[in-house]
Amino acid sequence: MKQALSSLPPYLKMENGELWLTEDDRENLKISYRIKEIIFSEQSPFQQVMILDSYDFGRMLVLDGVVQTTSIDGHIYNEMISHVPLQFHPAPKKVLIIGGGDCGAAREVAKYPDIAEIHMVEIDEKVVQACKEHLPAVSGNLSDPRVQFIYTDGVAFVKEHANTYDVIIIDSSDPIGPAKELFSYEFYKSVHRALKEDGIMVCQSQSPIFHLDVLKQTYTNIRQLFPHAAVYTATVPTYPGGLWSFTIGAKIPLSLPNRLSLPTDTKYVNDAILTRCFELPQFMKTALS
Ligand code: SAM
Repeated sequence: MKQALSSLPPYLKMENGELWLTEDDRENLKISYRIKEIIFSEQSPFQQVMILDSYDFGRMLVLDGVVQTTSIDGHIYNEMISHVPLQFHPAPKKVLIIGGGDCGAAREVAKYPDIAEIHMVEIDEKVVQACKEHLPAVSGNLSDPRVQFIYTDGVAFVKEHANTYDVIIIDSSDPIGPAKELFSYEFYKSVHRALKEDGIMVCQSQSPIFHLDVLKQTYTNIRQLFPHAAVYTATVPTYPGGLWSFTIGAKIPLSLPNRLSLPTDTKYVNDAILTRCFELPQFMKTALS
């Protein structure tokens, strides 16, 4: 192991000589990954930050024992949370990312040469440092001068910025701990205020299988604030249930005229997915109607 720990946290266990990470944040479901190495582990003021090298998913960012992103499937989530809102905006110049400490969303946004400023507001500097150094497959060692890192609470930050951004991407962890407020109506209200008159926001709205209540509440909140709102999905194997949801709120109609051209090096998003990702299975349509 690259990093020897004096004692393992309860979610990392040696079993018959093998190291296993078990996500045990859910009452009735445990998901385990066999781990090759602990690459990095440090307690920040907010959470236990780990980079683990796993057998099936390559390197992964793990916060308080919960997998956030991996080398194998991180691009699916990061491309979907970035390119979809950017493609619906006629001319995005100034983009805010809230959370997103693995830098994968910032890396995707930075693929558009016409975007002039990318502000990344992450509460935990340790996550960014760890991912830049040890998770280049996701972070891409991001050093684009247009990306400005601001280490503060995203909730407080948006309150102080009215009419500033074209696109706001809320790339948060699960609605517990410091991310809880990032799922609140009051927060989305501040996000609405922080957007310019043709602004668009997106957030990850959890698993339609396991957190349908969170998705419904998020969609309801966003629909109350924005004249145009929609939910789209992608399949991210390391997120519980696989199927993951994103909710978009827009001050302009969600159509795709005069859009920026999609970067040529995406691995998941293509022109067909940009429209088809909004096609929802019946149980989601029923829940959101
Ligand atoms: N893609 C991941 C997922 O859905 O599980 C999440 C990506 S990213 C790692 C989430 C980041 O949000 C974390 O690095 C965490 O530190 C950050 N975060 C949590 N609460 C925050 C807050 N109030 N303000 C800013 N960043 C926050």
